[in-house]
Amino acid sequence: MTKGTVSGVIANMVTLRVDGAVSQGEICYIETGGDRLMAEVIKVLGQDVYVQVFESTRGLKVGAKAEFTGHMLEIQLGPGMLSKNYDGLQNDLDKMEGVFLRRGQYTEPLDNERLWDFAPLAKVGDKVQGSDWLGQVIENSQPLKIMVPFQLKGTATVKSIAAAGQYKIHDVVAVLTDEEGNEVKVDMVQHWPVKFAMTNYKEKPRPFKLLETGVRTIDTMNPIVEGGTGFIPGPFGTGKTVLQHAISKQAEADIVIIAACGERANEVVEIFTEFPELVDPHTGRKLMERTIIIANTSNMPVAAREASVYTAMTMAEYYRSMGLRVLLMADSTSRWAQALREMSNRMEELPGPDAFPMDLGALISNFYGRAGYVYLNNGEVGSITFLGTVSPAGGNLKEPVTENTKKVARCFYALEQDRADKKRYPAVNPIDSYSKYLEYPEFAEYIKGHINEAWIPKVLDLKTRMLRGKEIAEQINILGDDGVPVEYHVTFWKSEVIDFVILQQDAFDEVDAVTPLSRQEEILDLVTAICEKEYEFDTFQDVVDYFKRLINVCKQMNYSAYRSEQYNEYVAQIKEMIK
Ligand code: ADP
Ligand code: MG
Repeated sequence: MTKGTVSGVIANMVTLRVDGAVSQGEICYIETGGDRLMAEVIKVLGQDVYVQVFESTRGLKVGAKAEFTGHMLEIQLGPGMLSKNYDGLQNDLDKMEGVFLRRGQYTEPLDNERLWDFAPLAKVGDKVQGSDWLGQVIENSQPLKIMVPFQLKGTATVKSIAAAGQYKIHDVVAVLTDEEGNEVKVDMVQHWPVKFAMTNYKEKPRPFKLLETGVRTIDTMNPIVEGGTGFIPGPFGTGKTVLQHAISKQAEADIVIIAACGERANEVVEIFTEFPELVDPHTGRKLMERTIIIANTSNMPVAAREASVYTAMTMAEYYRSMGLRVLLMADSTSRWAQALREMSNRMEELPGPDAFPMDLGALISNFYGRAGYVYLNNGEVGSITFLGTVSPAGGNLKEPVTENTKKVARCFYALEQDRADKKRYPAVNPIDSYSKYLEYPEFAEYIKGHINEAWIPKVLDLKTRMLRGKEIAEQINILGDDGVPVEYHVTFWKSEVIDFVILQQDAFDEVDAVTPLSRQEEILDLVTAICEKEYEFDTFQDVVDYFKRLINVCKQMNYSAYRSEQYNEYVAQIKEMIK
């Protein structure tokens, strides 16, 4: 293996003189005072190599020795990852004191001793390719596939396969014969370099299946789809965490992965304390059973922060290869971008806008591009739905991370300070937010088959009414209540009905927190009926009185158990009011 000698140290960036070939992205270990520091190659100039060290370089001296590994930053993928807390380098945080890495300390990501109930899915003589399913184990009631090594080239033949029984992750559960006649021993663990997208699927069509989240402002107004992408910008305190928790709990996903590249250590600690408490409304069990948390705080060195989102995405791809539906959330991708910026600045690269790297746009788009709905080689489907938050400094949505994310993410949920201040939760701005899926013919086709043909036109109509309501609110602001015709007030109050009845939703009320799709259909129909009615009022005060009463009954309906006597009573009242 290639060896190197430290020739310079600038914070976490270290230059090395090397005695052989090294490749971009290769991992090396630097010896210092008894510690082995892990580092990644970021630039190669002949014999001079720039590496970024994943932890503190305190005390590192020129002349220290390094050893290259010949592989990129990779993680281990296998049974035993669910409900774990990892850092960006896949260290098991539960095995450490506190949530902070001690320097030079790396832990085993998987339990090598635990026994798993293996059931074979392939049989001797089967022709298989990389990622094909050989067997299955169950982890926390999730069926996980044991797959042909992802790196396998061409087609191999199953020479032997283990009988059903208990095995450890490193036990050989299958032997394959590859195209060259070599034997390939297969255990339950895969390795994958995190910065490379897994393309072990047959096809990645445009996603089209509505992913129900129970959050009305998403499902009804700005739907996300299985395998889709979205992003949530929002200043501190606008409800990012509440929204993320709601989506992780309620969305129809088999596996939830949270990449927490927190701003402050306490936000990450919050994740560790709050997430294990969340109950999965589908099963009544702890959500954590099917969740993995990848956590970094900004006091971890920059390179480790950069790695975490890739580690999380790679894990998501692993589960997608098994035909599972993965929900991946990263909070916040701005921290990731800042890590990229720090590194590029240290390398003295020519900076792009706001000193971010020139290729920021490409990095973000490649990353979002790894999500998606796929047809696997065996005809099954799997998906990664990705939602990232961005935390733009000072709420400035024109900064490069937000702008570049906007180009690639298909849904935009703009959390807004002003709405949060008015306690209009979730504070998703109804005018700026969007879902591009509403424009996809595939999505329309799906909705036609699963809900009804009228759904999308109704939603688009409500969006137009929200915009009109906002314009009128501005006019009323300037001209006063009596300065505009009475019909203007009616139009404005119709938009308030949409806001209060569909958009606003109390995440802490047992009933209101989750609205199943069938219930959302009824609400949409009711609100549409309210909006389509022509009203006759003499004074603007009559308008206000009427609509306040109407909204009040609608809210009572939202807080009542679906189709309960009370609920039916409120629906009847509303219908009476708009006769
Ligand atoms: P952020 O993560 O953006 O800093 P949080 O998600 O912690 O903000 O939300 C801040 C506060 O706003 C919450 O503690 C809660 O009181 C309120 N809040 C946010 N969303 C909702 C909601 N959907 N329903 C009721 N209250 C909410
Ligand atoms: Mg938060």
